[in-house]
Amino acid sequence: MSRTKTGLLGGTFNPVHRGHIELGLKIKDAFHLDSVLYILSARPPHKKRQELPPAELRLAMLEAALQPHPGLLPCDLELRRQGYSWTIDTINELKAASPRSSFYFITGSEGFLKIRTWKEYRRILRAVLFIIVLRRPSHRLQVERLLREEGVSLLRAMDDPGLPPGAFLHAYVSDYLELSATAIRKRLAHGQDVSPYVERDVQKIMEEIKLYEEG
Ligand code: ATP
Repeated sequence: MSRTKTGLLGGTFNPVHRGHIELGLKIKDAFHLDSVLYILSARPPHKKRQELPPAELRLAMLEAALQPHPGLLPCDLELRRQGYSWTIDTINELKAASPRSSFYFITGSEGFLKIRTWKEYRRILRAVLFIIVLRRPSHRLQVERLLREEGVSLLRAMDDPGLPPGAFLHAYVSDYLELSATAIRKRLAHGQDVSPYVERDVQKIMEEIKLYEEG
């Protein structure tokens, strides 16, 4: 029996937007993954928590956004744990629960370039294969250098992926690549329309409770 291929896409999803959805869909398709788990970072160590809406609310928006896409699944593991949301703990938990799965950690290049700030990042690089999506062409050389320095092989999408440590550097064309949750929060604070950038059901939730609106 072939191994199940699962993508892991972590984020604060504050709020989830079309860039996140497209990322999951494109990678699932390009790498023939069975599913992509959107892991909500409940208590991220690197972000100011007082500025984050409750994890349950961000999860509700994530569930609404992923609902139309059967292969994209919300994951609340980090909500159910106490303390900071460390990626290494989540990966270990998922691997222990599904020993027959291969896991692919999906991340944008700007996020990957900060990996040295993650707890036990060397263990993470050796626990799962990475799929790094180029958010900017200029990131390519920086990502390749970091991989070289950390002894992580650069894999080609068509290769048999083998075992970690290894990473795919992937690029796709999209109008949504430059979209960020920060930009969406800013637009809402200025009373501007965000309907081109977030799913309708996510927008409904935000409107109902006036999330990110000023005053
Ligand atoms: P913020 O602006 O609040 O920092 P964000 O929009 O970057 O948020 P995150 O929740 O931090 O969203 O991102 C989760 C993951 O999705 C990261 O790996 C990030 O690189 C990736 N990502 C974010 N926005 C996009 C996008 N527009 N296209 C592709 N990947 C994205």
